[in-house]
Amino acid sequence: PLYQKATYLKSVPTINLCPEELTHEVAFAGRSNAGKSSALNVITSQKTLARTSKTPGRTQLINFFPVDETRALVDLPGYGFAKVNIKIKRAWEAGLTTYIEKRDSLKGLILLMDSRMPPTDMDLEMLNWTQEIGLPVHVLLTKSDKLKKGPAKAELLKLRKMLKEEYPNATAQLFSSLKRDGLNEVWDKLDEWMEF
Ligand code: GDP
Repeated sequence: PLYQKATYLKSVPTINLCPEELTHEVAFAGRSNAGKSSALNVITSQKTLARTSKTPGRTQLINFFPVDETRALVDLPGYGFAKVNIKIKRAWEAGLTTYIEKRDSLKGLILLMDSRMPPTDMDLEMLNWTQEIGLPVHVLLTKSDKLKKGPAKAELLKLRKMLKEEYPNATAQLFSSLKRDGLNEVWDKLDEWMEF
């Protein structure tokens, strides 16, 4: 479908350098290793798209992958690098926060969380910010193939309960890049936000 047309445009450090022609963006965020690159590749039916944003020098940048003239998927830096210098980390968090808070064309955030792990502090912080600024969030509970059906469903229901009570701007689903499970559901969410 549409997202197959995604191509790499550019990587920028701050909001003022973001492409001006875009009117609709959906950003992808999550702790390192949550499965963000794999998900982006499956969503765009491309084998190596997200590798672009993992090349040295780009891992802390905002990476743009337009699907047409005015719409783009945006790969945000994976968080949770414990060893990053604290000053660099703060600057990068500030850049990321500004992008999430101020970018008009940002219509929603896909938050990737490993289905086998509890939400990290940064995941909760992300849910808090987005709740405060009224940005819609859709959580992908990733690597769902690593859980049996029952436990996977139980994790989803547990998360949905927490979201309903504390973060009503957020929805959630199970997702497996390996099995391509949940792909139609995430495409539907993207279509909704992109107004396709
Ligand atoms: P990122 O750091 O968030 O971009 O995560 P990656 O996409 O690079 O994935 C991190 C690791 O998890 C890699 O070893 C992937 O092969 C693995 N992984 C990602 N998605 C899945 C999935 O759906 N199922 C399984 N079993 N492994 C996955």
